[in-house]
Amino acid sequence: MSPLKLVAAGVTDVGRVRDGNEDDFLDQANRLGLVAVADGMGGHRAGEVASATALEALRAAVASGQPLRDAIEGANDAVLEKSVSDQELHGMGTTLTAGMLGSDGYLVVGHVGDSRAYLVRDGELTQITNDHSLVEEMVRGGELTPEQAEVHPRRSIITRALGIDPQVEVDEYPIELQPGDRILFCSDGLTTMVRPDEIASILSREREPKRAAQLLVDAANAAGGEDNITAVIVEAVEIPADEVAAPAVPDDDTSESPPVKPPRRRGRTLFRVLVWVLPVLVVLAIAIVAVGWYARNTYFVGVNKGEVTIFKGRPGGVLGWDPTVEKHTGIKTTELLEGEQDDVKADKTFSSRSDADDYVARLKRGVQERTTPTTTIPVPPESTEPPIPAPPPS
Ligand code: MG
Repeated sequence: MSPLKLVAAGVTDVGRVRDGNEDDFLDQANRLGLVAVADGMGGHRAGEVASATALEALRAAVASGQPLRDAIEGANDAVLEKSVSDQELHGMGTTLTAGMLGSDGYLVVGHVGDSRAYLVRDGELTQITNDHSLVEEMVRGGELTPEQAEVHPRRSIITRALGIDPQVEVDEYPIELQPGDRILFCSDGLTTMVRPDEIASILSREREPKRAAQLLVDAANAAGGEDNITAVIVEAVEIPADEVAAPAVPDDDTSESPPVKPPRRRGRTLFRVLVWVLPVLVVLAIAIVAVGWYARNTYFVGVNKGEVTIFKGRPGGVLGWDPTVEKHTGIKTTELLEGEQDDVKADKTFSSRSDADDYVARLKRGVQERTTPTTTIPVPPESTEPPIPAPPPS
C-alpha cells in the first residue's frame, strides 16, 4: 500500500448558550501527522487555559519525538502544574482526544474524557473511543440504556480528564488506515446535539473537510447549541509518488501494538537521536579543549608554603582546571624585597615557562647578592626605582 498522509480541517464554535469557548483543537496534520480536540472545564475561563495548555504541550512533545501516550501524559502534567500554581486556575481540567499518524500507516488515537473520535469508512460511521463519563459507565453497568444516557441530566459529568491527578490513564486505539478513510474528532457539544446517523449523513454529503466540519457545527447550533462545539475532520490520502521521497510524518513509537504491526524501528530512532546529539557533543568537546588550552597555557610565579614557586595554569584556576606546581625554587618569600614579595603574592603571570624561569633567576640573584656580600662595596639591591641623579653643581 502506498504511504498515507493526513489532510485535516477543523471548526470550533462557542454555540448558542455559553459565553466563552473552552473547546480548542490542534491541526498539525501537515507537519506532525497530529490532530487533537480538547474540551476544557473550570471557572472564570480556566477551561480555555486548560484546553490550550494541553494542546500546546501535546504538540511540543510530539514535535520532540515522543510517542502519543507519553505526550498526553506530559499534557496532563502541564495542565496540572498550571492549575496548582495559580489560584484562578485551580481545579481546571480538559478532555483530550488526539490522533497521530505513524510511518507504518496506523493512526493511533489517544483519548481521555468525553470528546470522541469516529471512523468513517465506506460511508459507515463507527465510534472509536469510549466516553469517560458517568452516564457511559452507567450504560456499561446496565443501569441506563444508550437512549436514556443521551438525555440524562448528568450526561456532561466526566470521570477522567487531564489536569486533575498526577497520573492519568490514557486509552489508545490503533487504526490501520485505508486511503479515503475519514476520522472525525469532536467535542461533546456536537454529539449531545446531533445524533450519529445525522453526523454520518452530513459526512457522506460533504467530502471537503472544512465544509463538512462547518456543516456539523451548524447542525449542532440548529439543534440548540447548548455547549461549545468542535469538529475536526481528518482524511487519509495516498501520498503521490513524487512526494513519497519526503514524507511529512515522524516515526511513531506507540506502546500498544496491534498484532500485525511491524516491529518498532529502534535503529532509526537511535540514528535520529545521534543526528541531534553528535553535533552537540562535538561543539562541547571543542569548547572543553579551548577552555583547557586557555586555562593551562600560561605560567605564574606565586607562593606555596612560604616558598616562591612556578605554577602552570591560571591563578585561581579556570572552570575546574586548577594550576599545578611546575617548579619549587627554594627561595623563601621572606628573603625577597618588599616589592618582589608583593609581586609573587599577587601571582605574577608569564606567557611562557622560560619567562617565568628568567624572573625567578633574577629573584635568586638578588637574594644571593643580599645574603652573601663578596665585595666591600655593598651592591644595591635590584630596584625598580630610577637611580638618584647627582646633585647639580652649585
Ligand atoms: Mg463540552
